[in-house]
Amino acid sequence: MDITAKFLGGSGAVTGSKYLLDIGEFEFLLDCGLFQGPRELRQRNWDDFPMSVKELDAVVLSHAHLDHIGYLPKLVKQGFDGPIYCTEATAELAKILLLDSGKLQEEEAEYARKKGYSKHEKPEPLYTMEDAEAVFPLFVPQKFEQSFSIHPKITVTFYHAGHILGAAIVKFRIEGDHQTKKLVFSGDLGRYHDPILHPPTRIPQADIIWIESTYGDRKAPSSKPEDELGRAIRDIFDRDGIAIIPSFAVGRTQLLMYHLYQLMEKGKIPKVPIFVDSPMAIDATRLYLDFRQDHRLSAMLEEDDKHAFKHPQLRYFQKQEQSMSLNEYRGKAIIISASGMATGGRVLHHLFHHIPEEKNGVIMVGFQAEGTRGRRILDGEPTIRIYGYDVPVKAKIYQIEGLSAHADQEELMDWAEGFCEKPKMAFVVHGEKESAEALSKKLHEELGWNSIIPQYLESFVLFEGI
Ligand SMILES: [Zn+2]
Repeated sequence: MDITAKFLGGSGAVTGSKYLLDIGEFEFLLDCGLFQGPRELRQRNWDDFPMSVKELDAVVLSHAHLDHIGYLPKLVKQGFDGPIYCTEATAELAKILLLDSGKLQEEEAEYARKKGYSKHEKPEPLYTMEDAEAVFPLFVPQKFEQSFSIHPKITVTFYHAGHILGAAIVKFRIEGDHQTKKLVFSGDLGRYHDPILHPPTRIPQADIIWIESTYGDRKAPSSKPEDELGRAIRDIFDRDGIAIIPSFAVGRTQLLMYHLYQLMEKGKIPKVPIFVDSPMAIDATRLYLDFRQDHRLSAMLEEDDKHAFKHPQLRYFQKQEQSMSLNEYRGKAIIISASGMATGGRVLHHLFHHIPEEKNGVIMVGFQAEGTRGRRILDGEPTIRIYGYDVPVKAKIYQIEGLSAHADQEELMDWAEGFCEKPKMAFVVHGEKESAEALSKKLHEELGWNSIIPQYLESFVLFEGI
């Protein structure tokens, strides 16, 4: 038997994670991510799929971020109807994120139609909410650390990766005619000391490794994000202001809720209302309660009648009217709302109403990509365009680093050192050029690994005649 791998995404770039594995009689995809970011990358989502979708037998997912699952509706639209294996929490999170992605695609197409800037007569969305829903019946959820088979010769096991709820490191055990081989895919690895998520599991042995390199060239700041958050909030409250935190709904929001609860319980910030104003964040938080065994807070959630996700200060705002009512709010409060880079969503009207007042504060807690409103706020621009108006930025802007869901270079190396033997090959994926190169070099120099940065659409024969 031969085993080959083809890199359909997530190589030389952070997004579009998609790897095709072929054992001859069975072909399956590892992750099925959407390309995001610059236009030339996003264009790849529209290209013909590099193989006949009908020949694809299965999909295995590492976790529910869109750059790992966001192409699924398009794949299904093109005729894929095989099983999609993932952890239980990933299946549930994926439903939330895919529906939202379908909605965004529809909105973007509609916007392009109105503005008339599309080359097409009638701009079509990449996929719709209905296309997203068509993916759901194909999910085959699995438990962590319980092996299952996707083909008589292939066994799969999911291990905790940290990163986000449900995120897995994926191990494949492939039985050849003469030999058995182990392939390990890191997925996206989280932090070793994340207060909510389990640390990434160390795997002792693998013949082939895929290792992510998002922060392959970076060291996480040593400051404690909770202390920084506390300082920023106290500063805002000294002025009787409102703290607005633009935040990704999944993962980041729950981490913020955890830190804010800790700060209040320790008496480091006053007990004021915390408004979680994002339906998607509310749905995601519910999953943290449903899948308690998948994170570190299970004891806290079980034993205490109040906890990070349920206490008197916490107000979940599902309805639009509730959200709008905050425009008139005065006095100390914390508003957590999406989107994380202020590119859209409810956070826009909070910024619109509160950013022109000096006493208020905006706390940036995540990466702000070039060209986003969040980035312009962080860069200190005096006005910011919202709803067609140039709104003066008078509120104080704070930036908290260290809340990232990604392992830094040291942690990636830690995980790599968990392998007792050198793999035959290690593919360094899911990183921009500099970070992938930095990690690949370190793996080669310090661990003597045969590390490779695969190119987009490059193929490798992993084993021949095994
Ligand atoms: Zn991720």
